[in-house]
Parts: sequence; C-alpha cells; structure tokens
Amino acid sequence: MPDGRGRPGWPKEKAYMLYQGVGIYGIEWFRRKTGKSLDAIQAKARRMYGHGGLSRGAFTVREASRRTGYHREQLYRAMQALRQKWKRTSSQGSYLIYEEQLEELVQWLKTDYWSGYHRLYGCLWCDTQDRPHYELGLCQRCYQRFAQRLCRRDLPLARQSLLELVRAHPSILGEAVTAEVETQLDRGRVPAEFLLVKFVRNWSCVRG
Ligand SMILES: [Zn+2]
Repeated sequence: MPDGRGRPGWPKEKAYMLYQGVGIYGIEWFRRKTGKSLDAIQAKARRMYGHGGLSRGAFTVREASRRTGYHREQLYRAMQALRQKWKRTSSQGSYLIYEEQLEELVQWLKTDYWSGYHRLYGCLWCDTQDRPHYELGLCQRCYQRFAQRLCRRDLPLARQSLLELVRAHPSILGEAVTAEVETQLDRGRVPAEFLLVKFVRNWSCVRG
C-alpha cells in the first residue's frame, strides 16, 4: 500500500480514511498510514468535524439508539436495507456507526413505518415488526388479546364506544391517565396494555 509520504494536500480517499478509521484506530495509526504530521491531521480533523475534533463521529449501536430515538432493531434493519457496513472495534467487538452512516440511517428510518397510518415503528404492545399491522396500532396477536380482555367483561370493542366509556369513568384511572388513554383512543390507537388491564379490572369492581 502506498504510504503517500510527502504528497501534499488531502485527496478524497485520505480524508475518507481519516473519517473512517482514526476514531477507532487513533491518530498514531493514521499518521503511520499517511505520513502526515499530527498537527496536519488535527488541523484537518478540525476543519472536517469542528472543535469536537477526532473524538466525534462514531457511535456504538446503543449510543446511536439513544441519540436518534430509534430502537436498535430498527437501526439494524436500516443498516441491512442500505447495505451499510459497520466497523467493529475488534473481530467480536461491538459495532461502530459513523455519523455519516447514522445520518443516512435516520433519513431512511423517517419513512420506515411499521404502520404507515399510525406512524408507528412496531406493535404498541409487543413491539414486533415481523407481523403486519392489524388494528389500532396492534399486530393481530395483540389485537386478539385486546379483544378478549374487553369481551370477557362485556366491554365494547368499538373504539368510539370504548372512548366514551373511559371518558365517562375518570375515577377508575384518575383524571390525568384517563386523558392520556382518551388521546390514544382518539388517535385510533389502543392505550398501553397495563392501563387497559387496570381499567377493565376496576371497571368490574365499579359494576359490583
Ligand atoms: Zn403485538
């Protein structure tokens, strides 16, 4: 491999190499690879990445997930869809995602809805993305559970009737939580499962 020693300027592939490798392998590695002085490398890094310098630019999957709000499974799926190659810290080490890649992933994930209508990234109750969306933000399996819980207590399955029922009994869940459940139902989604369970259980108590 040509070491580029003495060549002036920063050709694209060298700048790319800086971006790709230096965050992981360190400046010394890059200096050996290119024959650039440390000062030159740091100055270039500042020009490319601002004052964060070389410490910026690569994230673990967990960091990427925290930073973007996307679940790690979504990041993996987008990675596959985009055919990105993520570096590893070692052969068995954790993945590192570069800022450039992360931007591409986020761009892709913006429209990668599990339910396009609800703009959800997975079933509200079980998080699955493998089964298709069925109704109210749920996969079919969870919707069945939802229906069973309601039917067992003779509660209405229709969203609007359920909404009215919840609204008419704010004491069961308390005002604040009731408002939250109403908002969900109003948007055409089920409330969180534990809230529905609570409502159903206390509903039967209220009724005697
Ligand atoms: Zn589900």
